Amino acid sequence: MAGDPRSGRQAALRRRLQELGLDGLLVGYGANLRYLTGFTGSSGLLFLTADRAVLVTDFRYAVQAPAETAGAVEIAIETNNLWDRLRRLIETGPRCRLGFEREHLTVREAERLSKIDNAEPVPTGDLVEGLRQVKDAAEVGAIRAAATLAQDALADVLPSVRVGETEQAVAARLELALRLRGSEWHPFETIVAAGPRSALPHARASSRPIGRGEWLLLDFGAQLDGYCSDLTRTVVVGAPADARQREVYEVVRQAQLRAREHLRPGMSGRDGDALARDVIVAAGFGESFGHSLGHGLGLEVHEAPRLARTAEDPLPVGVVVTVEPGIYLEGWGGVRLEDDIHLTARGAECLSDGRTELLELH
Ligand code: ZN
Ligand code: ZN
Repeated sequence: MAGDPRSGRQAALRRRLQELGLDGLLVGYGANLRYLTGFTGSSGLLFLTADRAVLVTDFRYAVQAPAETAGAVEIAIETNNLWDRLRRLIETGPRCRLGFEREHLTVREAERLSKIDNAEPVPTGDLVEGLRQVKDAAEVGAIRAAATLAQDALADVLPSVRVGETEQAVAARLELALRLRGSEWHPFETIVAAGPRSALPHARASSRPIGRGEWLLLDFGAQLDGYCSDLTRTVVVGAPADARQREVYEVVRQAQLRAREHLRPGMSGRDGDALARDVIVAAGFGESFGHSLGHGLGLEVHEAPRLARTAEDPLPVGVVVTVEPGIYLEGWGGVRLEDDIHLTARGAECLSDGRTELLELH
């Protein structure tokens, strides 16, 4: 598998395990499994040591697993219980200080692990997630393509949005457009929120009709080759924006542009967050921006790193993050603008179209 990114990822993980004094790692979390092996099934356990990588999965994946992993790992198909097979695999080998994913293993699974004779279980955190932060060119390309697809789907739908139709109707057309354009799945529940409901940062599309002159906030994404995009646009429906809407929108726009312009690798997630937050605070809306500025994006829609007041670590070169400042005023409405940003050594590169002009649909 020369040139296969999975061999480089497994090698990097083995170096980390050696640094930590571990003989192996047990990986069961879907996105981590996919990253290391290519396997997309819902049930699998990867046992990775210095000289072996064995994926234990079940009969349903007997054809799919070898096809997807294409030699990146050995495959063991188990017809009864994956944990029994894992136990046999480990007990026939040398004694093993075996890391497990403490964020993902269930209590029941931890009990099973503790009963394997040859294994000394050691909790680990974010080993594969840490590697996943930094994207290679193919991963960045997939996210860019997923962002382009999502923008095209929005462009399909926006001209048809009408006063009086429900948020759910708009969400349905947007999700159909995403799927027709080739999105593998919706990476998260599509948010379409009108009027005062746009002040709920994670509103669910409801049966509420869209009123004339109201905000319509759309937060949606596409998934291609497993990689997610995540965009938010806020538009006005059926009338030109009023003065208050323009004022609030402009603050969010300036906050987003400032972050997009100045975000750099090496900066802490907290300093990244502050780029946008300072603009919103200076405009007097600090209390109304209650979430963090952004999150990593990749095989999962929320992954490391975070742009947040509590994020002290420096942002590595090569991460992809969202930049999504918002202002939410209860009873009035909210504005959020979200784009997907690749942090290169040269600075921030916007993978989505980064359109920030205020759209008034009428
Ligand atoms: Zn979003
Ligand atoms: Zn987001």
